[in-house]
Amino acid sequence: MPQECIFCKISAKEIPVPVIYEDEYIIAFPDIKPAAPVHVLVIPKKHIANLLELTSDDIMLMGHVLSTIPKIATKLGLAEDGFRLVVNTKDNGGQTVHHLHWHILGGRFMTWPPG
Ligand code: 5GP
Ligand code: ZN
Repeated sequence: MPQECIFCKISAKEIPVPVIYEDEYIIAFPDIKPAAPVHVLVIPKKHIANLLELTSDDIMLMGHVLSTIPKIATKLGLAEDGFRLVVNTKDNGGQTVHHLHWHILGGRFMTWPPG
């Protein structure tokens, strides 16, 4: 893992976070600077910089992430009113942490288009 990667440190438990969901492959925790009443990050434990770095080895992992996110959202109370799922990718996408992650945003109405 890249030594300076904050999300690798979180997944390795070097930096403690309130764990919302965890299994062998992924971990979910609250965003430190929430942009909505509910703002949870879901990350693979494996370091992948962004969506563009995915390989065929990651297909099962991606299926696992996307099939687990609705369960996490339900646990967060977002199933009835819905939520937004965001994957910022590189500079134009607004990515600031270069370890692949999904933002689950909920608890308020989300406007479109995004800023
Ligand atoms: P990005 O801008 O890369 O899509 O999202 C990175 C997110 O990680 C931001 O929303 C930011 O607030 C969050 N973040 C950055 N550092 C930390 C941290 O140390 N702990 C937690 N829980 N969230 C972080
Ligand atoms: Zn990482």
